[in-house]
Amino acid sequence: MDRVWQVVQRLMQHYRERWRPSETDPFKALVHTILSQNTNFKNEMEAFRNLDKNLGINPETLSKASVEEIAKHIRVAGLHRQKSVKIKKVAQYIVKKYDGDLWKVLKLPLEQARRELMSMPGVGPKTADVVLLFNARKHVIPIDRHIFRISRRLGFVSQNAGYEEVRAVLEKNIPERYYEDAHVLLIQFGRDYCRARKPKCDECFLSDLCPKIGV
Ligand code: SF4
Repeated sequence: MDRVWQVVQRLMQHYRERWRPSETDPFKALVHTILSQNTNFKNEMEAFRNLDKNLGINPETLSKASVEEIAKHIRVAGLHRQKSVKIKKVAQYIVKKYDGDLWKVLKLPLEQARRELMSMPGVGPKTADVVLLFNARKHVIPIDRHIFRISRRLGFVSQNAGYEEVRAVLEKNIPERYYEDAHVLLIQFGRDYCRARKPKCDECFLSDLCPKIGV
């Protein structure tokens, strides 16, 4: 679908500055993504900093820390009890199965690494794909809630499309070397224009490409 690539090209023209996750440690990136679930960027960052400063974010430490202790430091991110259980379990799993070294998984071929990551407690497709794209530099586009919403409104996929369908459509229509740009720019666009509530269709620079499905 040409329109997918047209949209991404226009996003690249509009947004000259592109952020990238600064985290190079894949375990920290994994914890970041767990903390980001159902919260905003500011609270996710604050929880991450609290946890790193007070306990340290590495599999050894977090596998031994109590759920209560982890929860105490990530309270600001919301759902802190569930998230702390996930973080502790995934830390224990990585220590037990990979001697605490997540790079052992990331060095595997893409599909195998993806399966391994998704078999870990608390790790779903988005978390796995974020780590694979930004830490392992694999060719994959993680789909977050902004990208889901935009893909449906722009008619790239049907309204009931699931994660794998959205991912497949985007990956098929965007050249691999632009996967990172596509991911970060679609999220930025979702925050700035195509917001969940009250999207700014009147000001939107993609309006001529958009059937505005469901808006
Ligand atoms: S025109 Fe509206 S619905 Fe379509 S991409 Fe822009 S903000 Fe989203």
